[in-house]
Amino acid sequence: MNRPANRPIRTLLVANRGEIAVRVMRTAKNMGLRTVAVYSQADANALHVAVADEAYPIGPAPARESYLKIDAILEAARRSGADAIHPGYGFLSENADFAEACEKAGIVFVGPPASAIRAMGSKSAAKALMETAGVPLVPGYHGADQDEALLAREAARIGYPVLIKASAGGGGKGMKVVEAAAAFTEALASAKREAKSAFGDDRVLIEKYLTRPRHIEVQVFADSHGEGVYLYERDCSIQRRHQKVVEEAPAPGMTAERRAEMGRAAVEAAKAVGYVGAGTVEFIAEGDGFYFMEMNTRLQVEHPVTEAITGQDLVEWQIRVAEGEKLPLSQGEIPLRGHAIEVRLYAEDPQKDFLPQVGRLEHLALPFAAPGARVDTGVRAGDTVSVHYDPMIAKIIAAGADRAEAIARLETALAMTEVVGLSTNRAFLKAIASHPAFAAADLDTSFIARHQADLLPPPAPVDDAVVALAALFVLKEEARQSAEAVDGADPFSPWGRAPGWRLNRDAHVDLTFADRERRIAVRAHFRPAGFVLDLPGGPMTVEGEANGEGAIRARLDGVALSARVVRSGAHLTVFVRGGEYGVEFVDPRLASQAATGTAGRLVAPMPGTIIRIAVSEGEEVAKGAALVVVEAMKMEHTVAAPRDGRVKALKFAVGDLVDEGAELLVLEDM
Ligand code: ADP
Ligand code: ADP
Ligand code: MG
Repeated sequence: MNRPANRPIRTLLVANRGEIAVRVMRTAKNMGLRTVAVYSQADANALHVAVADEAYPIGPAPARESYLKIDAILEAARRSGADAIHPGYGFLSENADFAEACEKAGIVFVGPPASAIRAMGSKSAAKALMETAGVPLVPGYHGADQDEALLAREAARIGYPVLIKASAGGGGKGMKVVEAAAAFTEALASAKREAKSAFGDDRVLIEKYLTRPRHIEVQVFADSHGEGVYLYERDCSIQRRHQKVVEEAPAPGMTAERRAEMGRAAVEAAKAVGYVGAGTVEFIAEGDGFYFMEMNTRLQVEHPVTEAITGQDLVEWQIRVAEGEKLPLSQGEIPLRGHAIEVRLYAEDPQKDFLPQVGRLEHLALPFAAPGARVDTGVRAGDTVSVHYDPMIAKIIAAGADRAEAIARLETALAMTEVVGLSTNRAFLKAIASHPAFAAADLDTSFIARHQADLLPPPAPVDDAVVALAALFVLKEEARQSAEAVDGADPFSPWGRAPGWRLNRDAHVDLTFADRERRIAVRAHFRPAGFVLDLPGGPMTVEGEANGEGAIRARLDGVALSARVVRSGAHLTVFVRGGEYGVEFVDPRLASQAATGTAGRLVAPMPGTIIRIAVSEGEEVAKGAALVVVEAMKMEHTVAAPRDGRVKALKFAVGDLVDEGAELLVLEDM
């Protein structure tokens, strides 16, 4: 905050979206505050809008036209009568101009003073400050002189390998590891280019590149009365491309002495910039040494693990401090109990180099009820993960009396997590949680790279149990539709006329499934209590019920188990025993429909923006010619002509947003 309110905050505007907006509002409501959301056009029906007492539109979907628009947010604050703004993380949370603009508008910014944000905003300037404050630094160069020859000399002095970082950096952008002097010039140029485009500032610093370090960060808090405390540390060493994937608290192997030493160094760092509010001091640790990396002047994504082990609500602390209150607890009063681990569930495809996924969450089950679990999310089933924002679906946090219990609970929570409609990193997270090296706390920042092969196994072929569950689901679904058709006396329903579906003692029906290239034929014999299925591995007795949501209670050869099958078109996703399997149902009655349905239509392969139209109406095109280019998540996808033809009609223009499956153009035969 710029200046403490010295009065209670009554109405809090949250200048953010997604899980963090929902999470901040939950605490604000608990404290009796009125909550105000802001939303972009893409978020009109988002969860954070539904949760808020009031919500104001602030502009189109792109963040720079909405969530990054200071004027629009301040206008919403004025209209709603908000007396404080919480910025969440990302977006404007570390924007000193925004903090200042709030102050000028007479609104409390729930965050540090603009001067502290500025002091820590440049990694180079922050390191210079920390040096003066006696906080240990990684050997490196963080000077103002950016002469290339000088930087190369500094790299040689530091000793290879070195790491070039953007001074203005964040989110791992503009960071390059350089193994040897010969590669320096090119790496520098590339780091500068990335920094310029991401931050509009190409200044860099150079650090010794530590090869097996741990990322250990300290949660600090300061009030406007000069007090500062630390709420212990988090270990965020499990990273992919320098981005956090798993975070836990406390850090495994941390001794009480070292905890106090790092905690004190972090509080010193905060005091050196006149800090007020919640902040995180990030250290990189190797052997006995720990070195300051940067300070994040905001609430961090992974703050829930700290809340779990201390029993404190950090957003409540932020609001109280912003009101001018003293810190709720002194250093000696802050508890440290048990262990907590957080994973970030992302819409991304680990099998395709973690390509972010966009699309509709057709089915979503999050482990809200798992023992010891907390789930923070900003989405619901039916919502769309769009190209505009971070593809995080949820954070899953598991806490236990000790690390082993937290891990076991995390595995349970991940086994209960079901997403259909787009690929996620769930199985990847589960593989990390179940890995023996994770159990042994053998952590450092190359954990994922080192265990890549174990963490990204090729999808397992579906086994007979999975096929049996898929078959049971299809049989029950068709029986239900058949019953409805008979009850409703719809004479045109195909189900009413399907003789195989009647429960005659000797009747059977043949079903075909496909597991990628493999065809799986299943003959289902009807029995009074269920079915006998002829499966690739032999016959299996299958009994059970499936409800309308696809939840199944089944007995497979007498073994009872629970599962879920979710159907989307011909695709079935089977969730069983914590695993997830995809099979296609090859329905002979749908095959002819498909042929006359989408075949021949030219549709968007994914939701995105039309960035190029290569043809005009009336133009003749040859098979394979590029027609339209759709961009999503910075990837371009070209829609090509499936056959020779003439463009009859274009349905969109460059710049238009399209949904997946939207017809892009009509091609007619010549
Ligand atoms: P944490 O240390 O809290 O995990 P991250 O580095 O993952 O923080 O970033 C938190 C959020 O801020 C993410 O949503 C990320 O996309 C966003 N973010 C990080 N750095 C920047 C930046 N320089 N500009 C804009 N957004 C950023
Ligand atoms: P960002 O602003 O992107 O969060 P950081 O400076 O915090 O940048 O670094 C991000 C990550 O990069 C760290 O968590 C760590 O894994 C890695 N990293 C940073 N500095 C070093 C270093 N000197 N040696 C090895 N790895 C480093
Ligand atoms: Mg960082």
